[in-house]
Amino acid sequence: MKTFWKLMFATVVSLFLIVGCSKSGDSGGKKGDHLQVVTTYSILFDIVSNIGGDLVEVHSLAPIGSNPHEYDPLPLDVQKTTDADAVFYNGLNLEAGNAWFEKLLETAGKSDDDSPVFRLSEGVEPMYLTSDGNEGEEDPHAWLDIQNGIRYAENARDALVKVDPENAEIYEENAEKYIEELRKLHEEALERFGQIPKEERYLVTSEGAFKYFSKAYDFEAGYIWEINAENQGTPEQVTQVVDLIRSRNIPVLFVETSIDPRSMEMVSNETGVAIGGKLFTDSLGKPGEDGDTYIKMMKWNIDVILENLLQE
Ligand SMILES: [Zn+2]
Repeated sequence: MKTFWKLMFATVVSLFLIVGCSKSGDSGGKKGDHLQVVTTYSILFDIVSNIGGDLVEVHSLAPIGSNPHEYDPLPLDVQKTTDADAVFYNGLNLEAGNAWFEKLLETAGKSDDDSPVFRLSEGVEPMYLTSDGNEGEEDPHAWLDIQNGIRYAENARDALVKVDPENAEIYEENAEKYIEELRKLHEEALERFGQIPKEERYLVTSEGAFKYFSKAYDFEAGYIWEINAENQGTPEQVTQVVDLIRSRNIPVLFVETSIDPRSMEMVSNETGVAIGGKLFTDSLGKPGEDGDTYIKMMKWNIDVILENLLQE
């Protein structure tokens, strides 16, 4: 008889344990242990990962080092987007090449108005393209102004809280710490760029990705082509930038890590002006290498620009 009761007791205890475990493992609408999140490219991957911390599992579509303006999603990307609890994109005309992102959302069944798809540039004041054929289109590169990076972080926080309200406090705490770091970095950028005389603050890059950056940090910017599209480095574009470099006496050129450097090398050969360094624009560096987070890539850019433009 004693053994019978012991067995019953053990059975009841283990039943409680099983029920208890499965309850704590079930958190709202989440699939599995982590909130499944998709971002369109690596910079958003990093910002969202900072706010989501251990609670999210993030999949980035356009791989590190690639160009998010145009991307061909793989079957895995379709699967991840279909299964995602939240999808984050930049907007402002970034993921627009061949409408790749719009098509992906449709395929993944996430194109309804109530789908958990969030534009991280929401609330950013857009700047516009001016070159022939692009006039009036929004320029996507808002994140190169760290103040906009802060906006992205706030939007990521609000979206995660909306999708996973149970963990609101954690997302808010993570965001507060992260935004504080971004604020410091923005202040540091303003202070350090202040050492460069105003008339020498000129950046020439392959793609004209530095509009928001230039406005925030008081630079002028020149480029070979204004936005990554089909026509990159045409003879007319090269002639225009060569003229600009000569007329403005530009002392140094820059290349971007996510763009083929050959066009800028051509410009450098033609003008005799050296390429001073590489800047991060549309992608982070590879994990473990330079610029492998949003903060590190912005720090890298600040350092490289100062090294090249600050007169000894
Ligand atoms: Zn770009």
